Amino acid sequence: MGLEEKLPSGFLLSTVEAAAGWVRKASMWPATFGLACCAIEMMAVGTPDYDIARFGMERFSATPRQADLMIVAGRVSQKMAPVLRQVYDQMPDPKWVIAMGVCASSGGMFNNYAIVQGVDHVVPVDIYLPGCPPRPQMLLNAIIELHKQIQTTPLGVNREAAARAAEEAALRETPTHQMKGLLA
Ligand code: SF4
Repeated sequence: MGLEEKLPSGFLLSTVEAAAGWVRKASMWPATFGLACCAIEMMAVGTPDYDIARFGMERFSATPRQADLMIVAGRVSQKMAPVLRQVYDQMPDPKWVIAMGVCASSGGMFNNYAIVQGVDHVVPVDIYLPGCPPRPQMLLNAIIELHKQIQTTPLGVNREAAARAAEEAALRETPTHQMKGLLA
């Protein structure tokens, strides 16, 4: 059955934002950031068993300039953090980040000087995926959740501007005596 048979009057009403969200979520290219054991599970989603291509991700991009999703799979060492940030900065907007596994999300069991205690100290994170390691099905579920976020994100939303606006709104609600302490 073709699409035209499902549309009673032969036309479809939507918004540009909904159409853009649908297109964006259905054609993401991940830039991999496999750093440790979690990367093995991430690689598994590309195999026929899990088939990440079903979600519009035909391939993992070898260059960040052609990628809009960073999957941080594994612990992030202090030495690797600036490299990770550089790769993120090279990705064109709009872009998204999944912290895969407890190490990427919070440092996990590596609570020591050498490991960044959560990749959100380095780049903004959209989805935190628990597990050690998370199974490939869990990564696919995280991608589906991210798709829902993307579908409802208004066009033109700039992450930094949105964060600044939230910060200013929080400051406006802060009692003056506390604000003096914050500004001091
Ligand atoms: S969460 Fe577990 S599997 Fe993933 S990188 Fe850390 S130790 Fe390895």
